[in-house]
Amino acid sequence: MVTLSKRFTRDNFSEILLAAGRKWSVGDGHDFNQNARAIVFAPHPDDEVLGCGGTITLKVMAGADVRVVVMTDGRTSHAKFVNAPTLIQMRRQEALKAAKHLGLEPSDYTFLDFEDHRLHEHISQARRHVVEMLEQSEPGQVFVPHRHDRLSDHVATFKIVVSALHVYNKRITLLEYPVWLWNTWPWTGSWRGEDSRTLRVPKLLRDGAELTFGCNTRIDIHPVLRHKVGALAEYRSQMQRQYNNPRWPILSDVSGGAFLARFLTGVEIFRRTEY
Ligand SMILES: [Zn+2]
Repeated sequence: MVTLSKRFTRDNFSEILLAAGRKWSVGDGHDFNQNARAIVFAPHPDDEVLGCGGTITLKVMAGADVRVVVMTDGRTSHAKFVNAPTLIQMRRQEALKAAKHLGLEPSDYTFLDFEDHRLHEHISQARRHVVEMLEQSEPGQVFVPHRHDRLSDHVATFKIVVSALHVYNKRITLLEYPVWLWNTWPWTGSWRGEDSRTLRVPKLLRDGAELTFGCNTRIDIHPVLRHKVGALAEYRSQMQRQYNNPRWPILSDVSGGAFLARFLTGVEIFRRTEY
């Protein structure tokens, strides 16, 4: 029993699940088109790096044209500590510094500046912008947050882009990247959440199945992992406590660091659908 409990830790269970997914799910990324022109939709500045920073770098190195569209202004992440205009400016500068590590230029970025946390109130206006961008760029691949990615701006970004794709009506590959979906047992934390067990178990099973089997495309980003790490480090407001304030929250606070660690494993995963 001692051996069993030693072996059966949360970490190795989550690795077993991912290995099972690799073995039995549809794709392993070998047929992923690195050269395809792409647009990455990020709900907040930093999601593009967390979810697909390595894949963006590989694509840029392969000569692909990649555009990043940041949907909201990011004003609420530290609203208790700093005023909105300062935080908006800070996060935008961080995004543009991170861009260099990914091989992108400021001109590759579009900031739609919808108010953070309130994207769902601007669905039709945002959809018009997205349709316009799709028509201008004619991408072969579109990256969006995963459909179950928990935060309201993440789910709204998914919905806006998918409804824009129906208007655009041309063939593309949709790649959904998990960010907050990773913040689930066994990848992070405890299976006992804040809400009641009965409500949580079906969600745990759904999220676990999505990460294990639903995300059917895996990109090995080991060769460019240092670019992703460098890009992420530029997001100082999210990675380091600012103004010497010990209460300033950062990404490594989430689930005792297990959440941030998911993005530095050398693999990025996507739920891929052909449209
Ligand atoms: Zn976000």
